[in-house]
Amino acid sequence: MSKKYVAEPFKIKMVEPIKMTTREERIEKIKEANYNLFALKAEDVYIDLLTDSGTGAMSSTQWAGIMLGDESYSGASSYFNLLDSAKDIFGYKYIQPVHQGRAAEKVVMPLLLSEGKIAISNMHFDTTRAHVELTGAKAIDCVVEEALDTTTYAPFKGNMDVERMKELINEYKSENVGAIIMTITNNTAGGQPVSMENMREVYKVAKESNITVIIDAARFAENAYFIKTREDGYKDKTIKEIVREMFSYGDVFTMSSKKDAIVNIGGLIGIRDEEEFYNAVKSRTISFEGFVSYGGLSGRDLEALAIGLNEGINFDYLNYRIGQMEYIGSRLEEENISFQYPVGGHAVFVDAKKLLPQIPYYEFPAQSLAIELYIEAGIRSCDIGSYMLDNDPVTGEQREAELEFTRLAIPRRVYTQAHLDVVVDALVSIKERAHEIKGYEITWQPKVLRHFTSKLKPIDK
Ligand SMILES: *Cc1c(COP(=O)(O)O)cnc(C)c1O
Repeated sequence: MSKKYVAEPFKIKMVEPIKMTTREERIEKIKEANYNLFALKAEDVYIDLLTDSGTGAMSSTQWAGIMLGDESYSGASSYFNLLDSAKDIFGYKYIQPVHQGRAAEKVVMPLLLSEGKIAISNMHFDTTRAHVELTGAKAIDCVVEEALDTTTYAPFKGNMDVERMKELINEYKSENVGAIIMTITNNTAGGQPVSMENMREVYKVAKESNITVIIDAARFAENAYFIKTREDGYKDKTIKEIVREMFSYGDVFTMSSKKDAIVNIGGLIGIRDEEEFYNAVKSRTISFEGFVSYGGLSGRDLEALAIGLNEGINFDYLNYRIGQMEYIGSRLEEENISFQYPVGGHAVFVDAKKLLPQIPYYEFPAQSLAIELYIEAGIRSCDIGSYMLDNDPVTGEQREAELEFTRLAIPRRVYTQAHLDVVVDALVSIKERAHEIKGYEITWQPKVLRHFTSKLKPIDK
């Protein structure tokens, strides 16, 4: 039996119509888009699971906050509301708003990293890796081995491999380790959580070696939910208490607030107590983002963010949100469709290699599945597999991804149980005709980050 769906802890006040299309229309649309889902018009998509970033639905309280937004250039009340709310949740002395997560990275990374240094992370998110590398430093991933095993249960597959981290510190010498970056939840490993014990240990080792710990905190609230429900000793703590303890194991945080803070744009930097570091952050923010009291956002964005931070740590909301992932996971399990197990906090990763074994990696099984989902029911997902990997920069050969996933990222507070059933039912009917599905070849591609703009065509065999 599938897991019971956790009913929404909200009711609907405003609706946004979505277009129903026919299968024939979708076959035409995806062909016009050269079989690249990023090239589809959003209005031709029925259920959009491309990303959970900036796609959440704001609450009536947030919309009311939009009207109250103070658009003063300096010292706006919305800025102070944001500081109050963020300081209260994270326990950090200094908070700097910026326009999104990568802006926070752009401001912070050069203050800690430069040519000859390294950053060690449980796994760098792609923009984080890019901003580490832009400083001339090297980004090294150090996730636990369980992360690569998609079928065996482990409660915290996002953890840092602490023993390997210690070896890396010895090998490169602590003075060359510019930062340790803890990504919570571990997005690249499929939204897998990091345990409190792991955060505590990493911080202890970092402090013994005098290394700064940055928390990459996009999904901090989902991570806290997993700690509460899976880790010994946290069952009776509130999400807020757990968040406070998590952030006590960091010195600085960078955050995309387009995820757990449930706003459509925004980001934050937090500094626990170092005034000198905050001063450096302020001057770089002024150069790149705007004055300190708005950081590239409008007053109304700051207001919505101040409210969203608190809504994002509400237990009933998180229980419903993670419940959606678990519901999809349990229905897929019933239908014998493989996915990365256990489900992560923001997405379900369907194992396309197992569903379409006849398609070799160089004909992109996860992209083929994503295209079929669109044709079947107007669902937009994306490939996290060999198609997303660019060619080898030296040999020009197609690289083979270890795992071929089609990612279903779930926007916050947007879709209902019936929508999720449409998604699972579409996968079930695709499974029934899976043997007929063919692979794709690329007819045009740029040199880097090709998956956004490449053109493809079906292989006729
Ligand atoms: C989304 C994300 C970022 C980048 O944030 P943007 O708001 O997209 O710039 C950084 N790190 C993690 C873990 C993320 O999920």
